[in-house]
This record gives sequence, structure tokens and C-alpha cells, in this order.
Amino acid sequence: MIDLRSDTVTKPTQAMRKAMARAEVGDDVYGEDPTVNRLQEMVATMFGKKAALFVPSGTMANQLAIRLHTQPGQEVIVESTAHIVRYEQGAAGALAGVQLHWVAGNRGLISPEQVEAAIRPKDPHTIQTALVCLENTHNSGGGTIYPLATIERIRAVTATHGIPMHLDGARLFNAIAATTLPPASYAQHFDTLSVCLSKGLGAPAGSLLMMNDLSLLDKAKRLRRMYGGAMRQSGILAAAGIYALEHHIGRLKEDHDHAKRLARRLEQIPTVRINHQDVDTNIVIFDVIGHRLSPPAIVTALKQEGVLINAIGGTSFRAVTHLDVSGAMTDEACEIFSRVLGD
Ligand SMILES: *Cc1c(COP(=O)(O)O)cnc(C)c1O
Repeated sequence: MIDLRSDTVTKPTQAMRKAMARAEVGDDVYGEDPTVNRLQEMVATMFGKKAALFVPSGTMANQLAIRLHTQPGQEVIVESTAHIVRYEQGAAGALAGVQLHWVAGNRGLISPEQVEAAIRPKDPHTIQTALVCLENTHNSGGGTIYPLATIERIRAVTATHGIPMHLDGARLFNAIAATTLPPASYAQHFDTLSVCLSKGLGAPAGSLLMMNDLSLLDKAKRLRRMYGGAMRQSGILAAAGIYALEHHIGRLKEDHDHAKRLARRLEQIPTVRINHQDVDTNIVIFDVIGHRLSPPAIVTALKQEGVLINAIGGTSFRAVTHLDVSGAMTDEACEIFSRVLGD
């Protein structure tokens, strides 16, 4: 089976499992897990931040950030199809007590002018804007890369208003691999940012929340405990993350090439709507229009032929390339798409 549902379906390689088995561990709630400490230092250094905190999931990293920067009753500006909006079970409202202010983006990206217009005036009637969150690459936008210049201009807007910024960088490594920009060039514009080890990097679990302000780190550790994310001998997981950072960043470009190949092939199928130029990284979002099968039936038909993808609402589908999808599997998936969707 060629599983293109998500880059989260990867399984740890034998070499990664060996690194996990060898990991030196301790109780991380006491700060005594040397492997977790090494991972945190490694990631903080890589992104030019003072601190990084290991947490179980990207959702937790985002939610700690939202809680850190806001008070209940305030508002967070976020793109309307962001992970924080769609896939975090309303945690920003439920756990931080904030309201999300959705801004409709173009392939997930919002402009400095939109951010400026969304910031609330400081009058006594109006809800107060506490935070702006961006997502890079943007998942629902189709793995879209935020141009650094746009981020710089958004930062300039929020700085005039004294509003902090958080980056949901679950797939920031994909943006870094595609652009070859230094990690810190993105990170410098955010007060906090998260990265996932369990997406394209292929680790079984774990994210990091980074910041420069060490008083935020202390608060983040307490909130992580409150949210049930303080772990003990988590060096076993951190070792997988270190292995992934050392061995799996360089190869992300292969995933991007595979995604482009899929997109070019899909473009040739009459029932498919996609522009391969919109595929920046490893996510391929396309529409199937006027096919005799319904979207769920298309997913089933592809599955019967050996390819798994997700229907993501309406006529849209998502295919994601990753560590466990080779060039040969990509070619086979192309054949299956042509056969099933061209039928
Ligand atoms: C996957 C993802 C996350 C975090 O997901 P978890 O499953 O909680 O690790 C956050 N943001 C984006 C954009 C994602 O794609």
C-alpha cells in the first residue's frame, strides 16, 4: 500500500530504533534526561533561540504558546484554515479562553495589510488583540511556504502595535529544505515557534516550542505539566528526534520532488484540477470535478488499487509524500491516479 494520507504515517527506521534503544535517559520532570536536554539545546541553537521545550505533540506546542501570550477574553489573529482553527478541537477557546479572529488567506497565507486591518483598536468597547499566529508551511493551503519578506512585513505591523507573534512551524523543516534559508531567518521574527519531529522528519512523536524569553520557558513548563504533557524518560523519544534532525532534513527535498511529480501527472488527467506550480513542498491538494464516482468512492477505488489519500471536503483531496514513499512508489501512484481518475 502506498500511503499518501499524511507525512505522519512514517514508521521509525531500524537505525532510528537503534538510536532510541541506546538513549541515555533520566526523569525529565526533574530536568534530568540528558537526551531530552541535548535535543532541546540542539533545536534552540539551530533556530537561534535561547530555549526549546520538548512536548508530546504539535497541538500542545501551539496551545502552550497561545496560553503564554494571552489572557482569557482576548483575541488571536489566525488564518481561517489554520491547524489551530481546524484540527485542535477548539483548544484555544476551551483551554486559553480566547477568541480566534479568522482572516481568509490565499493558499493559507495572509498579508501584512490583512493583519493590520484585523488588529482591534484600543478602545474600551473592543476586544483586544493579544497574538498573531502564522503557519509555515501551511498545511491546508497545500504545503505553502511563507515568503520571508511577507513575514518581515507582518512582523513590522505587529511590532508597531506591541503584539507578539507565534509560528506554527510543524512543517518548517520543509520550508527550510525548499528555500535553503537558515532556520534562524524565519525564527527571528517570532516570539515563540513550534516544530514537529513527527511529520516529514519521521520520528514517532514530539514537537519543540522555542522562545527567547526565559520567563516564558518557566511558564511553559508549568503549563505543559497542567496540560498533561510533562513526561519522564522521554529521552527514548528525544533520541528519535535527534536522529531525525541529523539524518532526515537533507532528504526532505526528495519528498518535494515526488510531490511535484505527482502534481504534474495529476495535471494531465481531465477530471483533475491542480496547478503543479502551487506545490511548494510535500503536500498536493487537488480537486476532482465531474467524475462518475463520489469523493468517498474515489478514495475507496484508489485504495483498491493500492493508494491511500484523504478526501478533505467538497471535491478536494490531499496527497502527502514522505520518508516511506520512494521514487518507484511515486511512479506507481502516478499510474494508479491516471487509471482510476482518468476512468
Ligand atoms: C500536524 C500539525 C500540527 C500538530 O499536530 P499534532 O498531531 O498535534 O502533532 C500543528 N500544525 C500543523 C500545521 C500541522 O500540520
